[in-house]
Amino acid sequence: MVDLSRGRFSPDNPALLLENAMTWRQEQRGERQPLRDLGDGRARPDRADMPRILVVEDHAGLQRQLQINLRARLYDVMTARSAWEALAVSASRPPDAVILDLGLPDRDGTEVILELRRWYLSPIIVLSGRTSPDSKIAALEAGADDYVTKPFAMGELLARLRAVLRRNEGRVSYSRPDRVVIGHWQIDLASQRVIRADAASAPSGSVETLRLTPTEWAILKLLVQRPGQLVGSVQLLNSVWGPGCQKRTNYLRFHMARLRRKLEDNPARPRHLLTEPGMGYRYLPDPRPMCEGLGAAESALAEG
Ligand code: CA
Repeated sequence: MVDLSRGRFSPDNPALLLENAMTWRQEQRGERQPLRDLGDGRARPDRADMPRILVVEDHAGLQRQLQINLRARLYDVMTARSAWEALAVSASRPPDAVILDLGLPDRDGTEVILELRRWYLSPIIVLSGRTSPDSKIAALEAGADDYVTKPFAMGELLARLRAVLRRNEGRVSYSRPDRVVIGHWQIDLASQRVIRADAASAPSGSVETLRLTPTEWAILKLLVQRPGQLVGSVQLLNSVWGPGCQKRTNYLRFHMARLRRKLEDNPARPRHLLTEPGMGYRYLPDPRPMCEGLGAAESALAEG
């Protein structure tokens, strides 16, 4: 019998189950290099240093194989078999990345993405048997970072996982800022205050502040916490207004226009709060200034 799915991972492919198990054993015996770089190659890192991955998959055999392969590459693995369990587990111990099946017994995986994206910033990779462009678009717009279709090659999934984790690492050091500057305004996300960026040189008591509404804060926060990234309209609508409002793109247009009027130097030609037509919005930070005064000097020149 010719097994057409050979080389691709399908839950019902015993040949591949065996192959994966053998690869794992070879790695354990040191006959094969594990895919993850172990540094000096000897010391097994502390559990706390291992990236924590949540695998959401209701097919027991596939879940087990994912678990074995991830553990062999020194990931700390948590598992869930339903949408409810996925949300509960990630809320109690937020993972560094989620691998998510869409066909779950209680709720659709796309709803899990929307729910997670209300607060969860780390990568989500969808692993699904649904191959239609519509399913992919829906998952990506809901906030997934990548989409792998079943049957899949384990090596490819692991490579994609490493890629999203790498991208996320870069973001952690550079982004999730407490303060960002847009135009003349310095935005303090923690205290929810907006003051003039050049307030430091202003005489005390005359610091100009700007008021944003709770809705504006909610939108702005989602955008600036993901500098440079596209945030889908569906994701924004769901996070700010909740499920059921995912088609109200007019709400977003209205509030984005107000945010631009308040924050951008030239709201008609925004530099920071950008629209990606038909997809969503993106916050583009300024490149880091060479020295503190430069930003203010530059804006003064632009104004003059
Ligand atoms: Ca499933």
